Amino acid sequence: MKQGATLSIRGLHASIDSKPILQGLTLDVHAGEVHAIMGPNGTGKSTLASVLMGHPRYEVTSGTIQYGDEDVLEMAVDERARAGIFLAMQYPSEITGVTNADFLRSAINTQRGPDNEISLIKFVRKMEKTMQSLEMDTAFMHRYLNEGFSGGEKKRNEILQMMMLEPSLVILDEIDSGLDIDALKVAAAGVNAMRSPDRSFVIITHYQRLLNYVRPDFVHVMMQGRIVKSGGAELAERLEAEGYDWVKHECGIVDVAIEEEPQWAVPMQTVSPRGT
Ligand code: ADP
Ligand code: MG
Repeated sequence: MKQGATLSIRGLHASIDSKPILQGLTLDVHAGEVHAIMGPNGTGKSTLASVLMGHPRYEVTSGTIQYGDEDVLEMAVDERARAGIFLAMQYPSEITGVTNADFLRSAINTQRGPDNEISLIKFVRKMEKTMQSLEMDTAFMHRYLNEGFSGGEKKRNEILQMMMLEPSLVILDEIDSGLDIDALKVAAAGVNAMRSPDRSFVIITHYQRLLNYVRPDFVHVMMQGRIVKSGGAELAERLEAEGYDWVKHECGIVDVAIEEEPQWAVPMQTVSPRGT
């Protein structure tokens, strides 16, 4: 675990199926800091989360990601997890046949290594205690991972995983979507309980309401696959009050989403040589 490490993203470009999504994203997250990334739909926020975690469908075409002294782009997904990077996904997967408890215990043991596995009793106690703090029914321990969970239950379960794994870099992708106000407060309390000088957070959110409960140190606005504006917590408040139009105006952006390839941008190899 890289406790107390800085995440440093420089000029990151990434594509999916040859479609450029991230277009020069630069961000530093120091230990102890909470960064919120906000932005309209389709601006590349989830893509950033996936690239940080090493999703194989996304191709990084240029730029760097360092975590402490390690080159994250050289690390496999499990190595990233062992280094303490954790992603709560916007759309968590359902895994039939693997219970929530089995999944978490093997994740914790992978992190701890073969000679240092958590005892069953300690694990169960910790899981029960954490579930209680999140007001989750302990029956969820023995349910298959996310199978048949409601949207809100999935989100709570992601927070449970975060609290059990105690990562050093937490990325939360729209953890607030699908949560009613009570569940939002419970999730926020979980995040706040985990805040520490050794741990940093990247909180991706569409709405400011989560930030009423988890106060960020920095707020960034993402448009067209990059960060176009940064500020403090007051920036989120202004976005809540005024929307995103003023940011577009200030940055001279017409369409916030990732630009479609212009029609004339024919790939070089398909252009016939002149005269044929
Ligand atoms: P956000 O999270 O900000 O809403 P995303 O990162 O999900 O944005 O998406 C950014 C752009 O990338 C969108 O245009 C989206 O259609 C495209 N995109 C993301 N994932 C895929 C995918 N798996 N296949 C094709 N296009 C994708
Ligand atoms: Mg998203």
